[in-house]
Amino acid sequence: MNLAARNFGSSGTAARLQFENIRHGYGGREIVRGVSLTAFPGKVLCLLGPSGSGKSTLLRIAAGLEIPHAGRLLINDVEASGPAGFLPPERRGVGLMFQDFALFPHMTVAANVAFGLTHVQKPARQAIAAEALARVGLAGYEAKYPHMLSGGEQQRVALARAVAPRPSVLLMDEPFSGLDSRLKDQVRADTLAVLRETGATVVVVTHDPEEAMGMADQIALLKDGELVQTGSARELFTRPNSVFAASFFSEINRFDALARDGNVETPFGTRPAPENL
Ligand code: ADP
Ligand code: MG
Repeated sequence: MNLAARNFGSSGTAARLQFENIRHGYGGREIVRGVSLTAFPGKVLCLLGPSGSGKSTLLRIAAGLEIPHAGRLLINDVEASGPAGFLPPERRGVGLMFQDFALFPHMTVAANVAFGLTHVQKPARQAIAAEALARVGLAGYEAKYPHMLSGGEQQRVALARAVAPRPSVLLMDEPFSGLDSRLKDQVRADTLAVLRETGATVVVVTHDPEEAMGMADQIALLKDGELVQTGSARELFTRPNSVFAASFFSEINRFDALARDGNVETPFGTRPAPENL
């Protein structure tokens, strides 16, 4: 990805997003059970946990798509949840990229990227789309149509669309799950580079410990709607009897073990396999 070709600078507007004792659920069933967590400005926070642990619910709350039953969502210390404080996402500079992102098939790539920029005049809109496409390594793709692109390229278009408005917070729900594993590592690394360049505060939902390892400044491990552990990958790995390490290793073991003689190789050196594996 040719990131050096243009100087995009950094938005410098990254926000701090705080979940404060958030509770939420559906039909009388509590799914998020008192989560307090901070996403720090310009950093990547990964919400990691098994299916059903409440990750997407938290993300929708962050997006203002759900109003929590209890607790507060704060953006730069301003309450952004609840009927009184509710602001629509576009006014808060919060960008979204969901797992099942959809590109409009009958619109050009540039039009897809510029879709959310309704407040911008047309020439500027085209320039912003071209800039965002260059940023994700798709310079010159403006006039193509989605069906002409590979899965990885479509993913990049969706990313360009998400970063084009220069969000101060970017929320991503399983953004790479549609990609086959061959592509995933590359697209993920390129995405991370783009996110770093935009300087946005990023919250990524994933059920894949390796993905969290590869992207996060901070990992929040969720289980049954509660925050189990939080910290950097290194902190979570090196903590004795780490639940995170256990979940990481069980994932690895599924794909055919790195464990030998009761030891496991980690990105931070060899350590004894956790007992609760
Ligand atoms: P995760 O993203 O970690 O898999 P979710 O936040 O999507 O978890 O959801 C947790 C649980 O909440 C799921 O088991 C699902 O059945 C339920 N749920 C999620 N969204 C809704 C909804 N809109 N209406 C009813 N139940 C929901
Ligand atoms: Mg989910």
